[in-house]
Order: sequence, then structure tokens, then C-alpha cells
Amino acid sequence: MALDDFKDVIHRCFRCGYCKFTSNYTDFNCPPYNKFRLETFSPGGRMWLIRAMMLKDIEPSQHLADILYSCTMCANCVEECRFKFHDDIVDIIMEGKASLVESGMVPPTARDFFKNIYLSGNPWKEPQQKRGDWARHYGIPVYKPGDEYLYYVGCIGSYDQRVQKMAGAFGQLLLRAGLSFGILGEDEYCDGNEVLMMGEQGLFEYLAQKNIELFKERRVNKIVTLSPHAYNVMRNKYPRLGGDFEVVHYTELLKELISSGRLKVPGGRKIKVTYHDPCFLGRWNSIYDEPREVLESVDGVELVEMRRNRENAFCCGGGGGNFYTDIIGGGESSPSRIRVREAADTGADIIAVACPTCMTMIEDGLKGEDLDEKIMCNDISEIVLDAITSAEEG
Ligand code: SF4
Ligand code: SF4
Repeated sequence: MALDDFKDVIHRCFRCGYCKFTSNYTDFNCPPYNKFRLETFSPGGRMWLIRAMMLKDIEPSQHLADILYSCTMCANCVEECRFKFHDDIVDIIMEGKASLVESGMVPPTARDFFKNIYLSGNPWKEPQQKRGDWARHYGIPVYKPGDEYLYYVGCIGSYDQRVQKMAGAFGQLLLRAGLSFGILGEDEYCDGNEVLMMGEQGLFEYLAQKNIELFKERRVNKIVTLSPHAYNVMRNKYPRLGGDFEVVHYTELLKELISSGRLKVPGGRKIKVTYHDPCFLGRWNSIYDEPREVLESVDGVELVEMRRNRENAFCCGGGGGNFYTDIIGGGESSPSRIRVREAADTGADIIAVACPTCMTMIEDGLKGEDLDEKIMCNDISEIVLDAITSAEEG
């Protein structure tokens, strides 16, 4: 769709501002608005600016680019808009960014991101042939036709040392459950979710087509993703480009493996855990229960909720490409630091995450708040694996 297709919706937005709050109005839940406290950074303000750009009342500029690219695509506004514009709001913001891409007016960090993905298949210009190296340590196999699942790891899981452990923990659980699966290793390529959210539609289609062709060539039917971002784009955006695969997030598969008895989880040590809902799993795809059910299946885990949870969860600040551009990071008011303070209020020992982006953001937040010695950030697979291995060790 083009921006013009949303003309009526943009016009109907009252800029009433409900969408920047939690559902009970206790907090500002739009991360960039909360950080800058300027209406231009709120969802309604963005709609107003995009409309002005569409009507040529304002010209694309670097300042406008910073405002639009500060949106983390957390979808709180989709949830809270009193006029029920639903996905139109985030689609309009995406189209606004696409207009900026067309006019060549994007933040320099976004331009570098696009260039690196196009040239190297990942945001950091890492060598493609090293993409699967992390998996050897865990004995995780390469996918072959006939395997039940393709395990799609994604860029952060493939190259970030901390997240490689998260990717490894889930792989080890699949091995223990006896599932036939494999990764693409050096043939895996960026999924394109952030590229799309940042408005580079041509690059997104190129990546999606490349992945879809490869999946078909390898006769893939089922995909399990480590990242909710990959899950979102493969489940919701690939089908219209001919990529109709059965896609599940790893927490959904873990839940199924545990409830069917294929994965036995004995009691672990007693720990208090709070769960941070990733926006692309929660608000974008309504998956709130499965991650919690997996955590609750671990005897010894006491699950405590943060003040803002499920539909009202506060974004870690990493979505919509902010993980790479860092427009709203830094200082006490950065979303990740606010989120870890909220987690600390629960008295939890561990912040459980289910997303590579959240893991990195939350770990940064813990360091920024000097809480990294007091609270750990663990992915759900790591918590399950730890319960299994500590029971085995006696
Ligand atoms: S998007 Fe909806 S809730 Fe937000 S300002 Fe516009 S009309 Fe109001
Ligand atoms: S998607 Fe999130 S960050 Fe973007 S305008 Fe809506 S509430 Fe704000």
C-alpha cells in the first residue's frame, strides 16, 4: 500500500492522544514520547507530521527522519487507539518512513544499516561464511530436506556472543526432545523485519524473495524462529510474496514439547522470575500465554508480573530499528533502563526474555542501572535448560 491509501485514516486521527498511554492511563507507554515529552514524538503527532508531508506542507528533513525513526513500532498505539485504527497506525508510520527513504532523507545510521544488510546479509558486515560457526559448539546440525523444522536463528543470534548462548540453549532443548531440525548456517540471510519497519520496501522484498526461494529449494515446511521479529515477518508478510510456511516462535514449540511430554523438565532451583513481553510476540501477534506457561512448567520458578505486562508491557526500546540507530537510547530515561527498574521493583532474581533484541537491550539496561550483579537476564530456553541440567547434576 502507498501512503495515499491511508489519506482518510490520517485525516480522521483526532490527535486526542489516548494511544500514548497504558490502557488505565497510569503511564506514558509510547517510548519516544515518554523520552522526549513532545507531541511530535507521540503516535498522533507522527500522524499529523506524515499528513503534512503528504500534503507537501512540510518537506522531508533530517529532523523529521529522527522523529519518525524514533518510533520503536511497539504497537501500543494500535492497542490503545480509541478510534480503532488498528494496524493502520503502524502501517502509516512505515509508509511515512518509506517516503523518507524515497527522498533519501533517513538517519545516517539507518542508511548504513540498509547498506550493510544489502552487501553482507547482516547489519554489522560480518562474514557470511561465519554465520553458522556458533552452532558447532552445541552440535546443532545443518538443515536437510526431510527434517521437521528449519530453525531460523537470525542476525543477532548468529553473531552476538551473548545471544549465541540463547540460540544454543534452544538448540540443545530440541536435540534433547529428539526433534529433526537444522539451521541454514552460512546460507541463512537477514529476515527483513527491521528493514520493512524502517521503510526500505525494495530491500525488504529482495530479502524476503531470497529467503522464500531458499526455503522452497530446501523443501522447508515448518520454521521455528528464535526471534519474534523474524516470526512476525515470516508469518505475516512472507505469504503475500509466495512464502506460505508454517511458522512458530520457539516458545510455542517449547510449550508443545513440554505439554506432550517430549521434553521432560524436572524441578530446578527456587527462583523468582519476571517476564518481559516482546512487542513482536505480544502486541503484534497476541502471544502472551505460551512463554508464561513454559516458565510455570519449571518447578521452582515463581513467576511475578511487572506493573506493566501483556498488552500494557513497556517496550525495551529496540524495535523499529532503534536497536541499530539508538535514537532513543542513553540516560536514565532510556526505555531499557526504565524497564529494568520496573523489573527490579518485583524483587525478581531473573528477567526472562524471549527475544534476542530484548535480551541485548535489557542487559544494557541492567548495566546502566548498576543492577547487573543483582538481577540476571536469561532467555526462557536457558531457564528450562538450566532446570534440566541442574537436576541431572543432582
Ligand atoms: S491514533 Fe487514535 S488514539 Fe491516537 S491520537 Fe489518533 S485518534 Fe487519538
Ligand atoms: S508504535 Fe509504539 S513507539 Fe511507535 S508511535 Fe506507536 S506507541 Fe509510539
